[in-house]
Amino acid sequence: MIESLVSQQAEINESDIELCSVLIVDDDEISALAVSDMLAEIANTEFLCDSTLVLKKCIAMKPDLVLLDVNMPTKNGLEVCKEIKSARETEDIPIMFLTSSLEHDVQKACWEAGAIDFTVKPILAMTLKHRVKNILLNGMRIKFLSKISFRDPLTGLYNRHFLNTEVSAAFKSASRNMHSFGVIVLDIDFFKGFNDSYGHLAGDSCLLNVAQVIKKSLHRPSDMVIRFGGEEFIVALPETDKKGVLLVANRILKNVEALKIEHVGSPNRRVTVSAGYSVTKATASASLESIINLADLALFEAKQSGRNTVCGFENFEAAFK
Ligand code: GH3
Ligand code: MG
Ligand code: MG
Repeated sequence: MIESLVSQQAEINESDIELCSVLIVDDDEISALAVSDMLAEIANTEFLCDSTLVLKKCIAMKPDLVLLDVNMPTKNGLEVCKEIKSARETEDIPIMFLTSSLEHDVQKACWEAGAIDFTVKPILAMTLKHRVKNILLNGMRIKFLSKISFRDPLTGLYNRHFLNTEVSAAFKSASRNMHSFGVIVLDIDFFKGFNDSYGHLAGDSCLLNVAQVIKKSLHRPSDMVIRFGGEEFIVALPETDKKGVLLVANRILKNVEALKIEHVGSPNRRVTVSAGYSVTKATASASLESIINLADLALFEAKQSGRNTVCGFENFEAAFK
């Protein structure tokens, strides 16, 4: 699967197309094998002759492209295409139809079912290869661009765009299910002074180190960390109660201190962070923005209490009455 590769790379290499996977669906095994042979030098291919199993196969395999025959018994290609396009896990998988029909209505139905492309049988191998190559390459480009649009270039952490889309969606889902959702706002202490003492480049390198430590301090795959602004970070913890949020916040503070980055302008003589948290069983009246604002108020308190400390907004329910 190209997805995992794209998420680790800094740029797209055209040669990575060979890591893409293509699922060929045709009730006629000989035809499916012939198409599979044509594409073998471009990508990894698998084929399926039973059209009723396509959705299940797509969920398990996550192919980068599906080539679909139109005329198949039990479930035809158009029905299969609509099924793939209506399931959340598979809706983004591009589908290309293969058919011997030259009829206007059949071709129209293929486009309307959500096809990205269309090839008429008998298939010209060279043309099919070029079309498949283009679709796979464009798919890689889209995934890569969407990945970098969610990242902060300095630290590699998620950015505000990610916060406003993905974290917001996770928060709404927690709201619907009445699950707790924790937010920690972190801010590096006396960071202006750090830049003044050591220079802006050393400041950037400090930010990167702190960002990596925050990331390493989160142990659940659903935990998220965002660079919110200059030296401010937001940690979002779905399904985490107050005890868990406090544990994570204190772990982050301890781990940042353990980096032992010298800071002559700080009473601690090393770089530290302050944290404010807010945690709630998300109620209908609460928004992600309001939870962040409350955590921000708690951060202000942490700064007032001497920094390198964790404060929480405890009276959450009252704030929404
Ligand atoms: P406090 O303990 O109250 O948080 O004090 P502070 O000095 O950290 O807070 P303040 O908000 O006054 O300063 C934040 C500084 O963070 C300002 C700027 O010099 C620095 N900063 C923000 N973004 C970047 C960045 O991308 N790179 C570097 N090197 N410094 C940054
Ligand atoms: Mg700040
Ligand atoms: Mg600061």
